[in-house]
Amino acid sequence: MQQVIHLQLSPADAENTGAILTHLASATARPKSSLSGFHIIKKSIDARGRQVRINLSALAFIDEPFQQRSIHRFNYPDVRKARDQVIIVGAGPCGLFAALQLIEEGIRPVILERGKDVRARRRDLAILNKEGIVNPESNYCFGEGGAGTYSDGKLYTRSNKRGSIDRILHAFVRFGADERILYEAHPHIGTNKLPQIITAMRKQIIECGGEFLFDQKVTELLSVNGTITGVLTSSGNRFDGAAVILATGHSARDIFELLHRQNILIEAKPFALGVRIEHPQELIDSIQYHCVSRGEYLPPASYSLVQQVQGRGVFSFCMCPGGIIAPAATNPGELVVNGWSPSKRNNPFANSGMVVSVEEKDYGTKAGPLAAMQFQQAVEQKAFQYGGGRFVAPALRMTDFVSRKVSSSLPDCSYLPGITPAPLWDVLPGFIFQGLAEGFGAFGQKMRGYYSKEAVIVATESRTSSPVRIPRDPQTLQHPQLKGLYPAGEGAGYAGGIVSAAMDGEKISRCIISRLTGKEFNAAL
Ligand SMILES: Cc1cc2nc3c(=O)[nH]c(=O)nc-3n(C[C@H](O)[C@H](O)[C@H](O)COP(=O)(O)OP(=O)(O)OC[C@H]3O[C@@H](n4cnc5c(N)ncnc54)[C@H](O)[C@@H]3O)c2cc1C
Repeated sequence: MQQVIHLQLSPADAENTGAILTHLASATARPKSSLSGFHIIKKSIDARGRQVRINLSALAFIDEPFQQRSIHRFNYPDVRKARDQVIIVGAGPCGLFAALQLIEEGIRPVILERGKDVRARRRDLAILNKEGIVNPESNYCFGEGGAGTYSDGKLYTRSNKRGSIDRILHAFVRFGADERILYEAHPHIGTNKLPQIITAMRKQIIECGGEFLFDQKVTELLSVNGTITGVLTSSGNRFDGAAVILATGHSARDIFELLHRQNILIEAKPFALGVRIEHPQELIDSIQYHCVSRGEYLPPASYSLVQQVQGRGVFSFCMCPGGIIAPAATNPGELVVNGWSPSKRNNPFANSGMVVSVEEKDYGTKAGPLAAMQFQQAVEQKAFQYGGGRFVAPALRMTDFVSRKVSSSLPDCSYLPGITPAPLWDVLPGFIFQGLAEGFGAFGQKMRGYYSKEAVIVATESRTSSPVRIPRDPQTLQHPQLKGLYPAGEGAGYAGGIVSAAMDGEKISRCIISRLTGKEFNAAL
């Protein structure tokens, strides 16, 4: 017999197989020997009470042999001789999952990526962190795996399409991620593990006969009579396909400019902008777990905060427990920060984006569809100037930020290029500074100890989502003016995060497959 059982355990018992079996036996009123094993189906932390508990749902095998967890079997056939090939611009999660989905249905993907493979890319990140020099083609946003590769690898999404989410998580496991991501409430992979997973995906695509090309920045879209036929790259190469998936991410400003120049409809889009805030991890642990030390069984604590300030949302974004603040600019002269963490989340700092929503009334309509992007860029440029070059970031203690005082000293910070005290009320637009200052006060009420002089505010967190939407027809998912062009993922405005970008990539591919082959897919996906 197989039975699903819900348990509430101590953090220590939840990490101990023998203890879990004992609890399962007692919950089912069976001798422990009748249980041949179990799978965890769901695991989450309940830190609301004084004692932190772990909620664990398990599938127990009682009086029958234990069976391994079944992982979705993906079938990737050889597509060398496929009738159709599809061009995919961008090798982020959206592009990679789009390619794998095409292969599953016998269509050959050709991936064009402006950056380098994960290994070569790592060297460019080291130069950026140590010497403050950014390579505009190879950085935290551009290169194999896209912005997702050297990220935290948090795999949560607000989407509730369980079937689609499970497909993505199972694919990550198929390419090397730990099975824990299948049942943890807040799964994450970690920067140290993501590159191998991305490499395994690339190898699979090439093994099946797909093409995967680096240093191929797309600079022109080619069309005949309102139908896209292919693309040109900066190296002068031309690639033709039955469709083009544009999955270039939220930082490919040259793509937005290219579309605008080629008179292909795009629209300015609201986004959010602010700062990254860093606390000692121990402080966040003690607030969230109500303890002096979290001990060896609980993971570094995280938080999620949201507040309305004068009709605007102020909210935490991409929180990285045990993480590092990273320089995420794609061009010289612009300061952008983001965060990542290794799989063990064992750095002594907890960082999170803290941002304010930016609406049409803020960037206006005069500058047309690039208005929001230009607003974003102007703040990044100002932050760079106040930082003093080489990606040193302007920063303040949290308490000084709120009382508009330039800090006389700053706490230790994980941001490798370094931080310097600067008047952030001059760097940030007034409504953003004000929203944050009021938000910090409110967050200090919600989490006692959060409002602290030990916390440092680093500017600027500006690449939260795309400032441009590339429209697409809701039925065919093609651009309304250019048949065969499929805007996809975060850059086009249809995803926010690794999982949703991957899901959008798969969805776009299924739509193309239906158009090319007539195959119909399960509408629930
Ligand atoms: C430091 C950092 C940490 C993050 N942490 C998380 C996290 O923990 N969890 C999470 O869900 N999300 C996280 N994100 C966001 C996440 O990475 C993105 O939401 C996701 O990668 C978007 O996927 P995408 O495929 O749509 O675009 P991207 O990942 O941005 O990929 C776009 C790709 O297109 C390429 N490209 C751009 N222009 C061209 C061109 N002209 N020609 C050819 N190629 C081009 C780029 O080089 C890039 O590889 C993080 C981002 C950063 C930067």
